[in-house]
Amino acid sequence: MIISNVATAAEKARYLMLCLEVKSPADKWFKGLDPAVKTDWARLEPEFTQKWATHQTPQRSDLEKTQDLLNHRLKPEEVGEQVPFWGTTEYTHIVWAEEMTALVQAHGLETRHEYVYQAMTNLPNAVKDNMEGEVTDWTTFIAAVKAIKIEKLKAQAKTEKDQAERDRATKTEIDQLRAQIEKLTLASATRQTGQSHQIAQPTFDRTTPSASTPGRNRQPRAPATEAEKAAIQQKLKAYPHQPDTDAGRATYRRQMAQWTAGRNPGDIITDTTPVPLKPGAAAICTSECFKCGTHGHRAARCVLADNHPARLSREEARWRMICGSVLGPINKGTATDVHLVFDGQGGMRQEWGTEEQESEEGKAEGSSV
Ligand SMILES: [Zn+2]
Repeated sequence: MIISNVATAAEKARYLMLCLEVKSPADKWFKGLDPAVKTDWARLEPEFTQKWATHQTPQRSDLEKTQDLLNHRLKPEEVGEQVPFWGTTEYTHIVWAEEMTALVQAHGLETRHEYVYQAMTNLPNAVKDNMEGEVTDWTTFIAAVKAIKIEKLKAQAKTEKDQAERDRATKTEIDQLRAQIEKLTLASATRQTGQSHQIAQPTFDRTTPSASTPGRNRQPRAPATEAEKAAIQQKLKAYPHQPDTDAGRATYRRQMAQWTAGRNPGDIITDTTPVPLKPGAAAICTSECFKCGTHGHRAARCVLADNHPARLSREEARWRMICGSVLGPINKGTATDVHLVFDGQGGMRQEWGTEEQESEEGKAEGSSV
């Protein structure tokens, strides 16, 4: 049996429990056992053998086994919480590590180190950012997860929950703004075609030189109107994205000084308040991650922690999100790919790569350009 090298009887019983696939017939059988039997290996093993040894269960394929590993997830919102575990309470990342160990052993994947990286990638940021030491295999990986300092983990988990809360609020704001613009455009189009007198352009069109195209039959239900797109294109010209050179960075500093001077404390970023773009970050509207300004992943799955110095400012991130949402990836064809390359920190040496680069292609809103 795969648990033969586990030291104590109590541990054997515990490993058996961990090896049972959730909601499988064996799992249901186990849950129905007398609690005293569950923890007593001397009674548990014969019960188990009698019940299951003669049952021929189909072997899981390699693909299914791998999938099992990768499906074993820890949710960001669970990080730092404690849950009942084996008669006591335990932090969720410890439970995750225990279960992952059991899963890897049950599937005989202890030497398949190539899955370590994928499993690590799937971990919430708060966990992977606080892992220390070099990760080379399952053993060092699981050990690194278990050794995480709980105070650091909890602090980051809280920061991320707060950030997620703010992101949700931002998204709501943008949705409301867009709904407003759509309504105004719809009203304007109806009045222009249905009545003879001229009405004022909606205020957000004021700065758009080519916005007055009366009589043009465009569908106002499109995700972003041409007027809206033109307006934001115009705003983008305020702070041309500078190259990552001495001259470019100097210009960027002047842009930032000008931008800062023109702001009031507490001003929020909207589609009319452009923000200077950091030199060296990906070009705007290129399906970039607007949190770190690189390609290869979306902001919702940014690999950098909220407080990571390589993150863009919240204002720039928000401006990029608005532009990407209104204009779509219009600059993608001409942009240079920018990728995060980790410097061995935390043992992650792989290049954060192209695995999902194209997978969300076409999902960008307003990509009807
Ligand atoms: Zn990112």
